[in-house]
Amino acid sequence: MKKLLVILQMLLLGFSSCVIEPEKNNKTNADMEMEKAFTDTLDGKKVQMFSLSNKNGMSVAFSNYGATILAIQVPNKEGKLENVLLGYDSAKDLFAGKSYFGCIVGRYANRIAKGKFSIDGQSFSAPQNNGVNSLHGGVNSIDKQVWDAKQMNDAISFSIKIKDGENGYPGEMNLTVIYSLREDNSLVIDYAATTDKPTLVNVTNHAYFNLTGDPSKTILDHDMMINASRFTPVDSTLIPTGELKEVAGTAFDFTTAKPIGKDIAANEQQLIYGLGYDHNFVFNANDNKTPAVVVTEKTSGRKMEVFTTEPGVQFYTGNFLSGKEKGRGIAYQYRTAFCLETQHFPDSPNQPSFPTTLLKPGETWKSQTIYRFSTIK
Ligand code: BGC
Repeated sequence: MKKLLVILQMLLLGFSSCVIEPEKNNKTNADMEMEKAFTDTLDGKKVQMFSLSNKNGMSVAFSNYGATILAIQVPNKEGKLENVLLGYDSAKDLFAGKSYFGCIVGRYANRIAKGKFSIDGQSFSAPQNNGVNSLHGGVNSIDKQVWDAKQMNDAISFSIKIKDGENGYPGEMNLTVIYSLREDNSLVIDYAATTDKPTLVNVTNHAYFNLTGDPSKTILDHDMMINASRFTPVDSTLIPTGELKEVAGTAFDFTTAKPIGKDIAANEQQLIYGLGYDHNFVFNANDNKTPAVVVTEKTSGRKMEVFTTEPGVQFYTGNFLSGKEKGRGIAYQYRTAFCLETQHFPDSPNQPSFPTTLLKPGETWKSQTIYRFSTIK
């Protein structure tokens, strides 16, 4: 419809102006307050809020700090819009955040054992910022930096240049993340990266979801299906052992939907190591067409389907949330959100049998993940 109006407008103007302006939303006072709270300056760069909305009223707010998704407002079964993400209340809180709410993590998301890896016989080391291991690209990585932003009609593009040697990784990397909102309530995330030296790439989004819309509730009653017959068991520091273990007969079997909380307290060593689920699942299909994950929440009727080109997902049940992170008027407690970080497997550079995360000059790494929202009765 909007495109039609634009064409009509262009016809009326005799094509004198062909610049399609970003969509002007009907902003409420709350939207404008939020925009103000998320406007700031960091390292001389402007930090701003951006938003996308569709005809169903679904809207998504972003910051160019960390290419972060700040909030996702989606209808429940009665059509009521609520935010299904954990997030902060201001840019200052976002800068100080320690739990990676909604941001992009990389250049290597998840863990690398002791931060050590080698490429073409040369050894590298990334910061050990998670016990002895390196997590989410190191210290002050891309989740803590201001990206360049470009708003288009139904998409926002964020891009960043990661320096050669930053956090110990070789190669200058140009990384772009494009978020688009479709009329079928899909939030699409397109990733692309290039490098000038052989390097590693594994980039994902770290959104914390609670489909009830009320982040004071736990997510244990959400029903989850993960299309994965295997997962990657870990050692006590959450580094994969290298085995691809069948989920059948374990608490990790989500091949048919079950409540997240059903087996989370089972007496299984893997759950003890993870303090719950904090594990990579190996998808049976990553064709971007078969739902890789389906989550439903009965009280709100919300459903979220995940489609991806990635071979795995870190399913994390907010086991480290402890009330320290605050936002939306509350302190976020234990297991009040889950993350579905689509990705290559943790510690791939040290696991020759895992799909490679090596990116060479001249190649473009591309990845797509879709979070599609709908409702059930
Ligand atoms: C990790 C968790 C970690 C969380 C926040 C997840 O990707 O697997 O162990 O606590 O990110 O950093």
